[in-house]
Amino acid sequence: MTGTVRGVQIVLAEHPLVAHKLTLLRDADTPSPVFRLLTDELVTLLAYEATREVRVTSRPVRTPVAPTEGTRLAKPTPLVVPILRAGLGMLDGMMRLLPTAEVGFLGMVRDETTLHASTYARRLPDDLSGRQCYLLDPMLATGGTLAAAVQFVVERGADDITAICLLAAPEGIARLEHELVDVGVPFRLVTAAIDERLNEVGYIVPGLGDAGDRLYGVVD
Ligand code: URA
Repeated sequence: MTGTVRGVQIVLAEHPLVAHKLTLLRDADTPSPVFRLLTDELVTLLAYEATREVRVTSRPVRTPVAPTEGTRLAKPTPLVVPILRAGLGMLDGMMRLLPTAEVGFLGMVRDETTLHASTYARRLPDDLSGRQCYLLDPMLATGGTLAAAVQFVVERGADDITAICLLAAPEGIARLEHELVDVGVPFRLVTAAIDERLNEVGYIVPGLGDAGDRLYGVVD
């Protein structure tokens, strides 16, 4: 299902394998090694949807039978940006489909009391002019982190942004629609499911818990 509200295109990846893997991720009894593997597999399925608009150019190719016109990825190379820490668990699944993409890193953390996002690390090119960017963040909860990340790459010149989230909350989508209404570049969100709501401490309900903790263990 695809829909656009206030300039934000939402792509809900409806597929039985997506639903199956997501259910296993939600299961509180799924241990970290299995959770990491399932995240990797699920992201590859989402990446197929997310790269539907990746820029290509034509390229001649000679088959064993005849010359014909083919396709290759256009320059500049797309940039994949996992938002640390939990987005790191999505990187391999994404790079499997886009192995020639470059990778930048953005470390963002939300204050669990105020739910405000702040940047604590960044390692990506200063000039992103004309680049398509793929932001990886498993949970779109309040939307503060993702909205800040989109603005960060747009300020550096990125001109087409796709965010891939395993799960999204309606509150986070509403915030993106509000904050990115004037962003000025195409923005789409690809997700496996839109859940019911956020709870009083900002967790997605029913969700899957803390994605970073489930991938990498609890950090105080
Ligand atoms: N971050 C998570 O890891 N899980 C949530 O439910 C919300 C934010």
